[in-house]
Amino acid sequence: MTEVLALEGVTREYPGGVTGLADVSLTVARGELLAIVGPSGSGKSTLLNIMGTLDLPTRGTVRIAGKDVTRLSDRRLSDLRGARIGFVFQQFHLIEGLSAVENVATGLLYVGVPRRRRRLMAEAALERVGLGPRLRHLPHQLSGGEKQRVAIARAVVNTPDLILADEPTGALDTATGQDVLQLLTELHRDGSTIAVITHDRDIAASLPRQITVRDGRLIGDVR
Ligand code: ADP
Ligand code: MG
Repeated sequence: MTEVLALEGVTREYPGGVTGLADVSLTVARGELLAIVGPSGSGKSTLLNIMGTLDLPTRGTVRIAGKDVTRLSDRRLSDLRGARIGFVFQQFHLIEGLSAVENVATGLLYVGVPRRRRRLMAEAALERVGLGPRLRHLPHQLSGGEKQRVAIARAVVNTPDLILADEPTGALDTATGQDVLQLLTELHRDGSTIAVITHDRDIAASLPRQITVRDGRLIGDVR
């Protein structure tokens, strides 16, 4: 098993005495597709932020590609994040004035890919998610499902080690959500490692591994 990510004894306390996560240990291996499921307020987004190095634990360690991220400088941490992790959010987080291809290409700015090559890679990623005919569309000219496909293209364009999706179907109708889930399943079949955060038990049950969180604790890990 090649480890992509490992959390050991991770606790995240927020100011005011709120415990977002309590003593969570979790390993993700290359090629996995897993769900992180739990009710609202259970700590899913806190967990995603820590898995994605957007936030650091109060206690415990987070290892990505063998490196303890809690020991890295901010600069090295953001380099590692840019090179190894792709994010997909419920609300897409596209830049409104940029076309689909520009939105995807911006993800490559910070990892030093030259302009022309950024564009080619972005186009290839959009083809891959079925948006070849929508390259020049602006976000407001796209449906919700198409916007999420652009966001997924942006997450995969740099072939990250790990894709983290926080409620990726949460803003979509059921059928469109199914399509997005199907796309993530296809990316997994092609080799991507993906964690899908969801409050939806049916979505979780359709994935090969389910991690259940409640009150900041990991209470189940089923394959
Ligand atoms: P979920 O994504 O499962 O809904 P969160 O990870 O967002 O849960 O939140 C877990 C707990 O931590 C909740 O009780 C929430 O109110 C609290 N929390 C989340 N972010 C913060 C923050 N920045 N400051 C204080 N408390 C927070
Ligand atoms: Mg959340």
